[in-house]
Amino acid sequence: PAARVRGMATSIFTEMTDLARRTGAVNLGQGVPELASPPALLEGVSRAVLAGENQYPPARGVPALREAVAEHQLRQYGLTYDPEREVLVTTGATEALAAAVLGLCDPGDEIIAFDPCYDAYAADARLAGAQLVAVPLAAGSEGFELDPDALRAAVTPRSRVLLLNTPHNPTGKVFRPDELAVIAEVCQRHGLTVVTDEVYEHLVYDGARHHTIAALPGMRERTLVISSAGKTFNVTGWKVGWLCGPTELVGAAASAKQFLTYVSGAPYQAALASSLDSVSEWAERLRSELVRSRDLLTEGLRSAGLRPYRADAGYFVQADVRPWGHADGVRFCRELPERAGVVAIPTAAFYQGAEAPGWLVRFSFCKRGESVRDAVDRLVRSA
Ligand code: PMP
Ligand code: GLN
Repeated sequence: PAARVRGMATSIFTEMTDLARRTGAVNLGQGVPELASPPALLEGVSRAVLAGENQYPPARGVPALREAVAEHQLRQYGLTYDPEREVLVTTGATEALAAAVLGLCDPGDEIIAFDPCYDAYAADARLAGAQLVAVPLAAGSEGFELDPDALRAAVTPRSRVLLLNTPHNPTGKVFRPDELAVIAEVCQRHGLTVVTDEVYEHLVYDGARHHTIAALPGMRERTLVISSAGKTFNVTGWKVGWLCGPTELVGAAASAKQFLTYVSGAPYQAALASSLDSVSEWAERLRSELVRSRDLLTEGLRSAGLRPYRADAGYFVQADVRPWGHADGVRFCRELPERAGVVAIPTAAFYQGAEAPGWLVRFSFCKRGESVRDAVDRLVRSA
């Protein structure tokens, strides 16, 4: 294999899902939702297929979806985007990230990201011949915090892009306005483009609020905002995502996208356009379901003697597994199916820099209540 893919053989998600399948363990590893989707959305796909929307859609995406995305950004964040030139539909957020990085970075450029981070970021940097520079989020007792000095120290003349993810996988952190302001100030001072991955934008709990950095003064023109339908509508298999930003940045990503996949699933895009218009009511129901599962999991982990962190958003709870006598989350996760019949993911897998707190393990709660309850019972029994 080529150097750029060496060491990428199997992602941690695939490895742990295979482990769950082999051992019959409850899978709280990969963030694959077990929850329902809006019936109208599912019917919309069948209708679109039967109506013949089965050929290549326009290169930048089905116009109705691009319009719905632009309206969504206006409604949610007060940001105006031209659906013709400032919105690009992609094959999931995964392709949006790849297209953004490939479209914006030259070999030798540096991409700043926060550690821990979603595994695709380092992979995309490598595919582009760029270097990921990981700035650790400080793991305190209250959660994960931006360290402004560490961020400032990471900037070099080669820095090109800052890759942000809020709400954050794997920690469940929501970046606060004061943290976003620090990031915005650094990016403006050093001329960095921001790529912000907001796939969990609607999954924010307990009155916490998601803010997009694109809405801060002076940031819209240097920011690509990425999201996707997978988490918002429990349709991770559909792979429809999008990015929004100023014409030039979207054009750069579109140039790469057209030769990665050209276009993606026309009938899915057509169906999503109308569901995105009514996302607010849907998301409210989904959040209350997810909060129930999160609370069940958090309390269950505590009853099992582990130390869970608070998750303000997303799909995942972090737990300190040292009370079970483990300082190594990788070993903990390899042994957990045998010991308890549960699969989780070592948080170390999300660290690119050296300072991974090895004792952290990520448990996902985007599951039916009965699955979470089953997992919790197993953990408590084997504690
Ligand atoms: N970014 C983050 C932070 C994620 O957790 C995921 C997970 N699936 C993705 C991107 C990929 O999204 P998609 O499935 O739309 O490609
Ligand atoms: N985003 C999901 C997770 O973090 C799944 C991603 C994947 O399987 N590539 O678990």
